[in-house]
Amino acid sequence: MALCLKASMASVSHSSHLNKVVRQQYMSLPQGEKCQVTYIWIDGTGEGLRNKTRTLDTEPKSIDDIPEWNFDGSSTYQAEGSNSDMYLSPVSMFRDPFTLDPNKLVLCEVLKYNRLPAETNHRMSCNKVMEKVKEHCIWFGMEQEYTLLGIDGHPYGWPMNGFPQPQGPFYCGVGADRAYGRDIVECHYKACLYAGIKIYGTNAEVMPSQWEYQVGHCKGIEMGDQLWVSRFLLHRVCEDFGVVASMDPKPMKGNWNGAGCHTNVSTNQMREEGGLQYIEQAIEKLSKKHAEHIRVYDPNGGKDNIRRLTGAHETSSINDFSAGVANRGASIRIPRQVGREQKGYFEDRRPAANCDPYSVTMAIASTCLLDSEDSEESK
Ligand code: ADP
Ligand code: MN
Ligand code: MN
Ligand code: MN
Repeated sequence: MALCLKASMASVSHSSHLNKVVRQQYMSLPQGEKCQVTYIWIDGTGEGLRNKTRTLDTEPKSIDDIPEWNFDGSSTYQAEGSNSDMYLSPVSMFRDPFTLDPNKLVLCEVLKYNRLPAETNHRMSCNKVMEKVKEHCIWFGMEQEYTLLGIDGHPYGWPMNGFPQPQGPFYCGVGADRAYGRDIVECHYKACLYAGIKIYGTNAEVMPSQWEYQVGHCKGIEMGDQLWVSRFLLHRVCEDFGVVASMDPKPMKGNWNGAGCHTNVSTNQMREEGGLQYIEQAIEKLSKKHAEHIRVYDPNGGKDNIRRLTGAHETSSINDFSAGVANRGASIRIPRQVGREQKGYFEDRRPAANCDPYSVTMAIASTCLLDSEDSEESK
């Protein structure tokens, strides 16, 4: 028993054991007129998030009240040391669920010294496409899957030597032997609601310690902004509990499900009576760009997703494009309800859990709604 306790303590971080009751004393001190603003940005890996905080004299009422800032890009894989200042350009503001009102979280775009977007800033080009296709009123909903790990990199709650029982009882499961780490899921959900994230729902996944939440529907560029901030909240909640949320698309080799980021899509035409024909048109266009899409559905040009899209475990093969009603083994699924009502949305099941939602939504919007000349231009 004592040995077992020791092993489980070793997998959670030291700082999660700091005295959180003492912390509460300071967190509840009045702060006057001042406002803490935490700037969040995507680092040079295209996956990692960074953040730092400053004080403003008064509470910002909108994003226009948040000043530009800068950071040292040589420490985030974004610049050489000799010319390392990068700009943080605020784009979207949320309430801070950790330090509470009036404090803010602010998602930023990263600009280089010459004010061009940094290599991993895909928001600017995404936004250009979303502006061009505005009349279609495109909506997205993304299903973020992730895996909880101890700080030793082993799936949270898995036996140290060996494996849990085979997959089957865990998906949407309840009970101490089925749901691993629900505290994190519930705290993240509340944090999202407080912050102003359009969180749609959550569920336990097929692999133990793997979970999902959905964000949406969101219009155009808002999808990427919301998903990135929801990921920041997840990492930050996990930090409090001393565990790690991994977006690796296939954290465990073998007979264990991978983690994706299914992307649901509709336009006003698809949502209206008889919209199925527009869904079919979009799928036809997507079928011609399969390889191009796979290259942008993970941050490493498809190299991460190749471990996940095997054709097994509710995935399609990375080499083939397929589509079908209610088919979870296809690249694109038309939900059964949508087939019946002849209108609604479709689901692209290919994006990896670690995808950049700006790249994914940009690729889908430009393939489905811009003629190829336009979409070349926007690159
Ligand atoms: P699944 O059955 O694939 O697991 P989920 O219930 O997990 O689906 O997620 C459904 C997602 O679809 C949500 O993110 C939701 O916002 C999104 N969604 C629902 N309707 C639409 C629509 N008309 N357009 C775009 N996204 C939609
Ligand atoms: Mn889902
Ligand atoms: Mn899922
Ligand atoms: Mn899905």
